[in-house]
Amino acid sequence: MPVTVRWAQCLTRPVLMIPGPTELPPPVIQALNQPPTIQYDRSFDEGVLEPTTQALREVFQTKGEVILMPGSGRTALEAGAVSVIEPGDRVLIIGAGQFGILMREIMNRVGAELTEFSVELGQPLDLARLATEAERLRPKAITLVHNETSTGTTYPAAEVGKIARRVGALFLLDTVSSIAGIDVRTDEWGVDLNMTGSQKCLAAPLGMGLVSVGPRAWEAMERRKRPATSDTYDLLRWREPQRFRRHEIAASALRAGVMGMGLEMFPDPSLWSNTVASIRAPKDVETAAVVQRMRDQYGILIGTGLDKIRTTTLRIGTMGMTASPHYVLPTLSALELALRDLGYKADPGAGLAAAQEVFANNS
Ligand code: PLP
Repeated sequence: MPVTVRWAQCLTRPVLMIPGPTELPPPVIQALNQPPTIQYDRSFDEGVLEPTTQALREVFQTKGEVILMPGSGRTALEAGAVSVIEPGDRVLIIGAGQFGILMREIMNRVGAELTEFSVELGQPLDLARLATEAERLRPKAITLVHNETSTGTTYPAAEVGKIARRVGALFLLDTVSSIAGIDVRTDEWGVDLNMTGSQKCLAAPLGMGLVSVGPRAWEAMERRKRPATSDTYDLLRWREPQRFRRHEIAASALRAGVMGMGLEMFPDPSLWSNTVASIRAPKDVETAAVVQRMRDQYGILIGTGLDKIRTTTLRIGTMGMTASPHYVLPTLSALELALRDLGYKADPGAGLAAAQEVFANNS
């Protein structure tokens, strides 16, 4: 009697071969097994968010900002739409399937004056006709689903980007099922908002919407007559350039600390850098000796100046992770101690106090 072999019986669940969500690589599954982290803590910004958004710029192929928000692909679409479109703005929507329709629904709710450019399911997009329609309408934005997941079709985003540019429209691109699976060239194609989700080719769990924002989209947001109606999804609100601000605060805390010790900065104040502090060493203290003492005794490596100012200046970097009180305060402390060891006496703790004040006033 023939026996039915049930090949799937040792699987606890079916393998996900649907067009998203997709299977997760084992290291990703392992990484999910972590205690909760505090998303508004500086350590989350420095250790998780900034490195991730930096890496995503490569994936998106953009020099613009990539914003990550809790949600999914449609969160990204909605955030993009609500941020740049105001009621009554003309929007030309290319509809070639179910996800073009989703864009239409979202734009409708935002109050856009819609024109749909319909494409027969599974058929090519008539670029010449689209160009004529765009020319006639002069819309504020043109939207396209790069990879229409409902019909398994990839549309020529680069060409649509050119049309959008020619008519001065923003180009909003849904890359939910293409990013990281198909070469998506955000900047090269003139995409102003590139909107996607985490659970498809990025091979991450469901739970994030991602939007890259180019300069023209920021301008459109800044020029709005009224603020976006959603607080949560207003991309302008997500823009806060934490990274630059963090470097600015850390550098000014470091300078305040150094000057609090009675030292002077080397450059003209109008030129102070937020990533490299160049400090005049006290008279009669050898810069190489300070560097050595700090390294050997206090475990912190700073640099001397270079070239003509090698023996008269010290350099301290505040870059990336080290642009933070966790690094700046111990460095100042070590500098004060090393200088003291070498015969320069500052008011004990005065530098640290000055730096702490800067951090305290800017947190
Ligand atoms: N756009 C496209 C092209 C999609 O394939 C999907 C989902 O499959 C969405 C938007 C909606 O994304 P989500 O389900 O992540 O909200």
